[in-house]
Amino acid sequence: MSFSLAHALTGLFWLGALLLLGGLARRASLWQQGRSASVSWLGLLAMPKRYFVDIHHVVAREPAVARAHVAAAGGGVAILLLSALNYGLMLYQGWLDVLLVLMAAVMLLGARMMQARRLQAPPRLSQGRWQVLPARLRLFALGSLLAAGLLFAGPQLGMAGQLIAVVALLMLALGGAELALGIGLGWPMKHAVAGLLHLAFHPRAERFAGKSSDLKPLNLAAGELGVAKVEDFAWNRLLSFDACVQCGKCEAACPAYAAGQPLNPKKLIQDMVAAQSRGSDPAYAGNPHPGREAAVVVKPGEDIVGSVLAAETLWSCTTCRACVENCPMLIEHVDTVVNLRRHLTLSRGEVPGKGSEALANLRNTDTVGGYPLAVRYHWAIDLDLPVLQPGEQTEWLLLAGEGAFDMRYQRALRALVKVLKAAGVKVAVLGEAERDCGDVARRLGDEAGFQRLAKANIATLAQYRFAHIVTPDPHVFHCLANEYPALGGQFDVWHHSKLLEHLLARRAIPLKADATPLPPLTFHDPCYLGRYNDGFNAPRNVLKGIGIKVVDMQRSGRDARCCGWGGGAAFTDIPGQRRIPDMRMDDIRETGTGRVAVACPNCTAMLEGVVGERADVIELAELVAERLA
Ligand code: SF4
Ligand code: SF4
Repeated sequence: MSFSLAHALTGLFWLGALLLLGGLARRASLWQQGRSASVSWLGLLAMPKRYFVDIHHVVAREPAVARAHVAAAGGGVAILLLSALNYGLMLYQGWLDVLLVLMAAVMLLGARMMQARRLQAPPRLSQGRWQVLPARLRLFALGSLLAAGLLFAGPQLGMAGQLIAVVALLMLALGGAELALGIGLGWPMKHAVAGLLHLAFHPRAERFAGKSSDLKPLNLAAGELGVAKVEDFAWNRLLSFDACVQCGKCEAACPAYAAGQPLNPKKLIQDMVAAQSRGSDPAYAGNPHPGREAAVVVKPGEDIVGSVLAAETLWSCTTCRACVENCPMLIEHVDTVVNLRRHLTLSRGEVPGKGSEALANLRNTDTVGGYPLAVRYHWAIDLDLPVLQPGEQTEWLLLAGEGAFDMRYQRALRALVKVLKAAGVKVAVLGEAERDCGDVARRLGDEAGFQRLAKANIATLAQYRFAHIVTPDPHVFHCLANEYPALGGQFDVWHHSKLLEHLLARRAIPLKADATPLPPLTFHDPCYLGRYNDGFNAPRNVLKGIGIKVVDMQRSGRDARCCGWGGGAAFTDIPGQRRIPDMRMDDIRETGTGRVAVACPNCTAMLEGVVGERADVIELAELVAERLA
């Protein structure tokens, strides 16, 4: 009996391996629809570290899921490797059977934990085949355990043993089919193979060496105008979509989805899967884009927008990166949204709402609001703020950004200048030589507009002598610090929260000695300071440094909810059931502080714009200025 069972296992192993390879070849042919991409094969060597360390950081935010996955996946991989040795290579060693029994028990435990979680599945999880996957994994683990146990026990079990052997083989075949057929047919276990390859050939490989949140420039001279069809994506971007496990963490984090706008980032990724697989994968069994039908109609050869995807879905995105931050498979939703937008803007000229007006203003005036550049620093007329001349020198160059045209935000800018002067900081501005940084143009898909503004700003800044740039606008900060380098601009850029933190730490800001304690408040993390640039601590240290206790919102720091402005969403203004800033004001209200500190002109405008009773919105610099001696 043991002899024939061992050979049956060898046959089953090689049949599974052949099916897996055939499926992989079919899937690879789908990825090959995409453009070539420059990838390093060394990524394959880096895969274990990316899997065990980088992904684990994200998955471990849900400890129970992480434990279940480690047991089920770790046990499963060990079973496959041991089976390859013992049955694939026909070693038939008893000690390998013992190890197989142990690993099967571990996998069984992990699959059991997964199944228990599925019984109380949060609504963000997809159903369908995903719902039955833990049961199939249990079958596979139990089949492995029985088969290896029988082989180890030897032939003395007689007829009963033969019966168990048949049952074990059936279980292995049924459970193993999930993996062997999954990659080819687009079943859930597709994620195991695609996920590992995605880690090896990630479109942002630099992400594994540190923060990477900059959008990559298009080569406009070479005719790159964004993504219209599946074939316009790079092949490793198509691969990345197949890594999705439909966990819905992106869905749960997305402010646009919560507001009832027609965007569900999980569905967006599955739309891309459907587009590339030409509808050959099983039907999607998760939540739809709000207000839209769940089913997609895939018409080969057509543009993605208009067939698989509605344009409003793309324009609903605030580019807040909450989805990217939470995705356990490290999928980059924002890159996909912006690449698809680029086609709509650059090729079709279709930008909704006031988005096209904003882009026209940028073309005509170099400001988003259509203001003359000469009035950018009118708010500082009485502040003795030097306007730097070419050839002159300053230590700090202040870029006020587009908030300089907003009367409410001008109060914050005046407070900042007052504080810097009190601290003895040598600061100057560019005056009317300052243009918009290009953030809105880039996020709205106008890559040509962004590159024009960025190159003009880089050329302008080259005429002046300064040591550092400081700005209160996280979008200006992000563009200059992270996106200008690709176009040749290298600057030492600070967000004002960092400079204020630095000055307070050095006791350079003269504060009132006997100030009465200030009431606590909460802090709203700007996406482009926090998630984009890890700027979580500096603003909190500033508040602490001036004696204010911060009561964090439930959604704060890495999990902060966007104010709704980013990505040009304030201009495209896609309707939903609620407004994102209203939801953020609810988050603020829950803290009971009645006051919120902000560190971005756009967050200031969005939260100040909430209609009805709301918390006081106070800029970081204003709070420091209030404490000046
Ligand atoms: S970037 Fe933000 S708004 Fe856009 S899909 Fe992701 S979570 Fe939603
Ligand atoms: S894209 Fe990422 S976070 Fe969203 S469902 Fe897929 S795996 Fe989960």
